[in-house]
Amino acid sequence: MRFASLGSGSGGNALVVEAGASRVMVDCGFSVEETDRRLARIGLSAGDLAGIVVTHEHGDHADGAIPFARRHGLRVWMTHGTLRASGTLRATTGGGAPDPVVTVIDSHAPFAVGDLEVAPFPVPHDAREPVQLVLGDGVRRVGVLTDIGASTRHVETMLSGCDALVLECNHDERMLADGPYPGWLKARVGGPFGHLANTAAAQLLAALDRSRLRHVVAAHLSDKNNRPELARAALAGVLGCAAEWVGIAEQATGFGWREV
Ligand SMILES: [Zn+2]
Ligand SMILES: [Zn+2]
Repeated sequence: MRFASLGSGSGGNALVVEAGASRVMVDCGFSVEETDRRLARIGLSAGDLAGIVVTHEHGDHADGAIPFARRHGLRVWMTHGTLRASGTLRATTGGGAPDPVVTVIDSHAPFAVGDLEVAPFPVPHDAREPVQLVLGDGVRRVGVLTDIGASTRHVETMLSGCDALVLECNHDERMLADGPYPGWLKARVGGPFGHLANTAAAQLLAALDRSRLRHVVAAHLSDKNNRPELARAALAGVLGCAAEWVGIAEQATGFGWREV
């Protein structure tokens, strides 16, 4: 297995996970042209993908998914809540009927995409029915967790024993408190249905079985309320590794292929 990011943050998210000949994109928060351009950077084109799993309806994850899928004839998987909450889908289907390219998934039921097994799990976040994912090939597992206000025991069960983790480190609590956001937005981002602070990500990581862990990448960093070195330090403190070992999913560049 291997995985790569096309970019991560409030300006747009997309991750590609591959097992054997099967590849899915997790979220698509970029325009069609931008997604094509970013895919080319990791040596892929849309035809290499089986489809897109959309974790929730927020624009930085969902806005590009349906346009990209329509342009390239791909499938899209999302929960019923994400489907119904997506304004894009209502606009294109005239009343919220399921879009023909969309397969509705159960937030607790794993499904197969070729050689990939995709296991969704629900997360507390201010969307209608958000999920995050563990993607595996039957032997190895890549855990993806962004856009979560607070961890749960179920989240920790799902992410335990993963070989690789892409883990939200959205903000530094001090920087958020002292930063430029208005009070309501600080409350939303830092609240139990918002985004994960560096310290909360570190606590979550500390609660996991990390015995198989070979990759940790911090993701969805705020450009106003965080700095890569703070996210790295928080996670490295738990892992007992050098800070540079912790990867960063950059907004502009994501990160290149990592072999699991
Ligand atoms: Zn997001
Ligand atoms: Zn979100």
